[in-house]
Amino acid sequence: MFDKILIANRGEIALRILRAAKELGIQTVAVHSTADRDAMHVKLADESVCIGPPAARDSYLNIPALLAACEITGAEAIHPGYGFLSENARFAEILAEHNIAFIGPKAEHIRIMGDKIEAKRTAKRLGIPCVPGSEGGVTDDDEAMRIAKDIGFPVLVKAAAGGGGRGMKVARTAADLSAALSTARAEAKAAFGDDAVYLEKYLEKPRHIEIQVLGDGRGNAIHLGERDCSLQRRHQKVLEESPSPALNAEQRNRIGEIVAQAMRDMAYSGAGTVEFLYEDGEFYFIEMNTRIQVEHPVTEMITGIDLVVEQIKIAAGSPLTLTQADVNFSGHAIECRVNAEHPSTFRPSPGKISYFHPPGGLGVRVDSAVYQGYTIPPNYDSLVGKLIVHGRNRNEALMRLRRSLDEFIVDGIETTIPLFRTLVRNTDVQNGAYDIHWLEKFLATGGMGEG
Ligand code: ADP
Repeated sequence: MFDKILIANRGEIALRILRAAKELGIQTVAVHSTADRDAMHVKLADESVCIGPPAARDSYLNIPALLAACEITGAEAIHPGYGFLSENARFAEILAEHNIAFIGPKAEHIRIMGDKIEAKRTAKRLGIPCVPGSEGGVTDDDEAMRIAKDIGFPVLVKAAAGGGGRGMKVARTAADLSAALSTARAEAKAAFGDDAVYLEKYLEKPRHIEIQVLGDGRGNAIHLGERDCSLQRRHQKVLEESPSPALNAEQRNRIGEIVAQAMRDMAYSGAGTVEFLYEDGEFYFIEMNTRIQVEHPVTEMITGIDLVVEQIKIAAGSPLTLTQADVNFSGHAIECRVNAEHPSTFRPSPGKISYFHPPGGLGVRVDSAVYQGYTIPPNYDSLVGKLIVHGRNRNEALMRLRRSLDEFIVDGIETTIPLFRTLVRNTDVQNGAYDIHWLEKFLATGGMGEG
């Protein structure tokens, strides 16, 4: 096991990793930008190193500064958290060249899954169900038309280098296709400097369901069930839950086992998430995230397994000690991502938190790195914290969520807590009757009143 690790991140995830390290008896090194001197992860770590000015490219993305921080402190491994360098294959390789362990998967797997076309090809080869579409990129309009007719309209034109939903265009009929192709190519070129596009069948009202996996890089892998993250705004997840209201145990075990077997076949190492769109009983692979995700606590609450502890143990070279039979799903968990944003206009609201009172009590977990008197800097993401509740069933979880949200006070800045107070009282949310477009429609039709 490692004696000391460096956490190359900030905010709630830095604190989350620090907690896992402390429980394992590992010394922690925090790094921070000059904007984060007063951050909680800096206060709670055993040591801290300032690695640069506020802009992330000069600090949290500054690889030479991170290597120097390891050198100065003697840290043997780096946990990248999510975002920043977590899915940078080159970073993982550079660490290996410096004999520093990367707490994450093998560089080759990060690279494959970071390329959308290659990821889909790999998923298909490993027996993971994919959205019908082109095999790789399409350059020729006639070829695109042939493929589109083959899979059937509507089709989605997607940028190969895509991210954040950019460079995607729906063609509802054959007449729309050529316009969709040229707009998607132009957007992809502008956003990513690469105009390669591919085609997929467009799913009208899917849910987003993802499978959490753990592998040890030696061919052992298990799944930890699913998370339903269908409540999204601008392709960003807003609320996540497990189990999915749309799946039964048999469906869960079937897709979970397909994914776990694929991870065994590729000798995947560490934590990962395979994301699917789900419609009419079928799963369609969209991407794999080769890192810990924001919504991982939902899985921890229903399995009792600490995913970050498992990541650290695997990176230190331990074989997976958990078997599939050790994973028992108990009850229901829901997570709300509370952002420093206006609850209906979503205008960012960084600033000083004048009063902070997180909820507590049975089945309530708050993963946050803010505190009363803390000033949220404008330089990074707007996550204030995550409220995660657990109940013996979905109703109990919803009941607990409602009262926790009513208890949660964050003064001095705007937050999205009022949005969640409205959502938890909504009949569709209570019934689990939502797809990936539900929240956008709800907001567009004045669900939150006037902004
Ligand atoms: P990005 O990398 O740009 O985020 P994804 O492939 O992950 O692109 O897709 C982003 C989102 O677009 C998905 O979460 C889903 O909401 C929607 N989407 C992607 N593919 C399809 C599809 N074939 N049909 C319908 N919606 C899709």
